[in-house]
Amino acid sequence: MMQNDLDNQFMQEAIASAKKAELQGEVPVGAVVVYEGKIVATGHNQPIAQHDPTAHAEIAALRAAAEILGNYRLPGCTLYVTLEPCAMCAGAMLHARLARVVYGAADPKTGACGSVINLFAEEKLNHHTTITGGVLAEECGQLLRDFFIQRRAQAVHESLTADYSQKH
Ligand SMILES: [Zn+2]
Repeated sequence: MMQNDLDNQFMQEAIASAKKAELQGEVPVGAVVVYEGKIVATGHNQPIAQHDPTAHAEIAALRAAAEILGNYRLPGCTLYVTLEPCAMCAGAMLHARLARVVYGAADPKTGACGSVINLFAEEKLNHHTTITGGVLAEECGQLLRDFFIQRRAQAVHESLTADYSQKH
């Protein structure tokens, strides 16, 4: 299979993980770690449920992959994530010495692969990891947009309902 097809296929799996986050009311971001052509670990965003600001999809997937492979470094691995990683996750990826990171939608607010800063372009920090962005970007981004539209609608509904019950 061509690399592009493989990237799309693994990004679909990351999207499936993102949907798990969405079902739990978390911002839908999902990640998978691939080693020797196979998915060895998945992760989804769950900071609210875990009471953990570091519980991003990428961190969960990196932790699970490192445990399964028995190595805190993941030099032969590729991580796929639906949203451009933040600085924390990019830092963890550099520590893991991932071979490659592939992301879907760009994140203009906290993206650390070029949108806000680019940690991977720092030659003093990065000798290991190549980056590919924009894989299934539309689908990954739509998942997030739908989530926030739905959440805003719900917030409006709840404030209207609260208003109504106060007055009646
Ligand atoms: Zn992150």
